[in-house]
Amino acid sequence: MRRVSIFGATGSIGQSTLDLIGRETNRYHVVALTGGRNVARLAKDARRLGAEIAVTAHEELLDELRAALAGSGVEAAAGAGAIAEAASRPADWAMSAIVGAAGLLPGLRALEQGTTLALANKESLVTAGPLVIETARKHGATVLPVDSEHSAVFQALKGEDIASVERVILTASGGPFRDWSAERMAHVTVAEASTHPNWEMGQRITIDSASLFNKAMEVIETHEFFGIAPEKIEVIVHPESMIHALVGHNDGGLIAHVGPPDMRHAIGYALNWPERRPLPVARLDLAGIGRFSFEAPDETRFPALRLAREVMAEGGLAGAAFNAAKEAAMDRFLAGTLGFTGMAPLVERVLDRMSGEGSLGIDRFSLDNVTRIDAEARAIAMRQTAEE
Ligand code: NDP
Repeated sequence: MRRVSIFGATGSIGQSTLDLIGRETNRYHVVALTGGRNVARLAKDARRLGAEIAVTAHEELLDELRAALAGSGVEAAAGAGAIAEAASRPADWAMSAIVGAAGLLPGLRALEQGTTLALANKESLVTAGPLVIETARKHGATVLPVDSEHSAVFQALKGEDIASVERVILTASGGPFRDWSAERMAHVTVAEASTHPNWEMGQRITIDSASLFNKAMEVIETHEFFGIAPEKIEVIVHPESMIHALVGHNDGGLIAHVGPPDMRHAIGYALNWPERRPLPVARLDLAGIGRFSFEAPDETRFPALRLAREVMAEGGLAGAAFNAAKEAAMDRFLAGTLGFTGMAPLVERVLDRMSGEGSLGIDRFSLDNVTRIDAEARAIAMRQTAEE
């Protein structure tokens, strides 16, 4: 039996992971499941799968979790420290699917045990890529990409020499506002931004997809994970979301990964790696689909892609500042105190200020300096709020 843990088990990626694990319970022993506010779902899945421990991020919900697990034999715990402790329990494979920078620490703890980490939490690589890669190396652990684009690149690179890679092309659906004017985008509501044309995902990544901040994160993630130079990473809008990424080699050939927009493919690939096993995802009917279309992204209406290049050029802790400022900007958008098109300018102001002050350079990556810059960037984003 493989020992598995899922961080962010109650979310979209977590539930898709449990769907796959729940189909073959004889293959898996569930060590830890972690969640946030959805204690009922966490307890139900922990009971159903016979988890050793269930942890909510919120200490005030511990009594509720204990009550929901009464008589099950599943241990209950709460708080960020308890999630990190649960992530330190020996497991063969763990899914990192907490949303936001809160996903970094549990991932690092799992890597320190030598656990194979399936990484959906792209914030880990954007904020602390070198730390994640170094921790895995030091402890003989493996990191597997779960973002569909990065899983696609990983699969397209199988058996290839990375030195022959001329470019990596990430596809973007373009989101719900692909054809909207800048004026119309200024009045986008939270409900409009929370609906994706092709993918069913958590609210934050859905809004990030609508602003192309998600693609900006993925460009940085590609650079950090595969070590591909920023100038070799391209983004193309492909509204059908069937081609997930393409790898271009120095002989002019492109290797594409094509599949239905169902995260269980990328999750299942990481779960079964290095094997391939049958997965319950739809098979594409290419004649029925008829055609694939492509267009260049519009960086005037979607400045996040330009910001990603600036972050990579700055290096150091710029990714941590970028992600924290982006999360703070989204908090404001969700609270109704910042317009949809106000998010990118706010992130840019935070980055400009921190870069101008020389705060983003470092000699060495550590969790402490990532955490410090994350907090500073959020505080500046909040002060910018007050100054506006
Ligand atoms: P969801 O919002 O659906 O789920 C997030 C999970 O994290 C939930 O279990 C939630 O708990 C938990 N959580 C929220 N805040 C905290 C916190 N502070 N501490 C601990 N746990 C917390 O997100 P998704 O599943 O969509 O995304 C998860 C990650 O995967 C993100 O990094 C995203 O960018 C990435 N990803 C997602 C894809 C997708 O298709 N959804 C595709 C590629 C990458 P609760 O709900 O109980 O409050």
